Amino acid sequence: MCCAAIERLRVHPSIEDVRTSPFYETAPVGVTEQPPFLNLAIEARTTLSPTDLLATLKNLEQELGRVRRFRWGPREIDLDILLYDSLILSTDRLTIPHPEMHKRAFVLVPACDIAADWPHPVLQKPLDALLNAVSLEEVTPYRGPVPCV
Ligand code: AMP
Repeated sequence: MCCAAIERLRVHPSIEDVRTSPFYETAPVGVTEQPPFLNLAIEARTTLSPTDLLATLKNLEQELGRVRRFRWGPREIDLDILLYDSLILSTDRLTIPHPEMHKRAFVLVPACDIAADWPHPVLQKPLDALLNAVSLEEVTPYRGPVPCV
């Protein structure tokens, strides 16, 4: 599913220079009776506005068959916007930087693989400094077969 999402982003006419981190496995939090999550970070250039990018990602989730179940439950795919240049945005539908990103090792570990010195525009610290402040326990490199990257 992740590979299909990456492929769709690579061929999108308004998205280019798609770079991906390695994949990581993350133990579920909250609802622990489910398989581990697979996480990665993607960096790309786009001419889409933040709102249009969000709509594109949510449409892609639907196309790839995401079924809404319950919060923190299993999901086929979840595409979030973490950062958009140095933009700070807060609307009913979209918050950038993603409000949870600096607390989540499963976000920061892959994000640091591709953008460690990227400054978080609100916290004014690079991502690798934010990573130093979180526990890495539940995030491990994914060792399974990943044919797409
Ligand atoms: P999700 O459960 O991850 O699909 O996200 C649910 C909703 O969160 C989306 O439909 C967005 O309206 C909202 N949202 C707010 N900020 C963000 C963000 N930075 N990236 C993705 N979704 C966001």
